[in-house]
Amino acid sequence: MIDRKTIRDLSDGEVRGRRALVRVDFNVPVESDGTVSDDTRIRAALPTIELLAERGACVVLFSHFGRPKGTPTPEFSLGPVARRLGELTSRRVCFVESTTSDEAVKATHDLAPGEILLLENTRFLPGEEKNDPKLAREFAQLGDFYVNDAFGAAHRAHASTAGVADTLRPAVAGLLLERELNYLGGALAKPERPFVAVLGGSKISGKIDVIEAMLPKVDRMLVGGAMACTFFKAMGLEVGRSLVEPDRVELARTLLASAGDKLVLPDDALVARAMDAGDAAHAVVRDAIPPDEAMFDIGPATAERYARLVREARTVVWNGPMGVFEQPPFDRGTMAVAHAMVEATSGGATTIVGGGDSAAAIMQAGLGDQVSHVSTGGGASLEFLEGKALPGVDALDARGAR
Ligand code: ADP
Ligand code: MG
Repeated sequence: MIDRKTIRDLSDGEVRGRRALVRVDFNVPVESDGTVSDDTRIRAALPTIELLAERGACVVLFSHFGRPKGTPTPEFSLGPVARRLGELTSRRVCFVESTTSDEAVKATHDLAPGEILLLENTRFLPGEEKNDPKLAREFAQLGDFYVNDAFGAAHRAHASTAGVADTLRPAVAGLLLERELNYLGGALAKPERPFVAVLGGSKISGKIDVIEAMLPKVDRMLVGGAMACTFFKAMGLEVGRSLVEPDRVELARTLLASAGDKLVLPDDALVARAMDAGDAAHAVVRDAIPPDEAMFDIGPATAERYARLVREARTVVWNGPMGVFEQPPFDRGTMAVAHAMVEATSGGATTIVGGGDSAAAIMQAGLGDQVSHVSTGGGASLEFLEGKALPGVDALDARGAR
């Protein structure tokens, strides 16, 4: 379905004994003692790594990690990630503490087919985020062909995600990138209906483009999170101390006027005086939010309604939690949506979770493997849903081209 070549399109001659330079997204949470506390993204890259290794490639991996701002910074070393990767695969994993030095290039040539080398953090180099062509050409020395499997970084035009493909060809998609694009792209291009979007999170400002891009495509757009409060404000309701973006109220009003009944807002709210005053949380109808309290979650009636609409859908795209899910009892709305996603999935619907925090919420609930797809890229999935081009994808060889 994606219009780019993938590692499956490469011939054996192009792969066997050749160095595959694979851009992965190993930007994972690492604790101060070097423990990787969530290895989801490492595991998500394994199918590509294994397929390349099985086909006899020498697998060279590189990734960004954190924000070291162009200089080597020990706390942002990928060393701990290499150790975790070594535990997740039975193959030999080497690590070099540099990315483009002669030592790094030599290490790529020293690899035997089926072995894996992880290079040091690409963001230790100042040219990375500037998409410096000189650095891109240096990256190109590290492999015989290029694979991008870093969906989480595909919305950035950096030397390791875009520039490198100018010199290093073939340049193809890995299996994770392919899977992400097929799910997200499939939902947008040919959704089975009803097609329901669930949008939440803290700020309407970060999601306006998604709302505008998706409204014409969906049958229903269910709004939760603090975002709902800006809409309430636009409707002239009392929002108390809820998080509202005053400079977006006018825009919310315009959206309300144009969206008709496609845009569904909460009927009730779970409110409290403060986020940490969950014990005193209580539900109110939406026009009765007390002036000295704030909405921290959708209310129970709304949770039930949203869950029903999700269960009745054939395609669901979910981006952004319904409340402050990090702080019970304000996780209830988010959990209701998560469970409804699972039920919809077992009924044959296609269900996609596409935001950093919403993905974290569904993983935290242990339900990540019971929906069709949990995106590994919050920002990238958002930009994709906004209809924007992803530079990391555009840089790859087009299908049908030679
Ligand atoms: P995602 O990463 O899934 O796209 P966002 O980053 O937009 O989601 O928003 C997630 C954050 O929104 C969470 O930290 C959550 O606590 C916060 N949030 C959700 N609802 C509310 C609310 N009613 N008031 C304040 N913060 C909220
Ligand atoms: Mg977020």
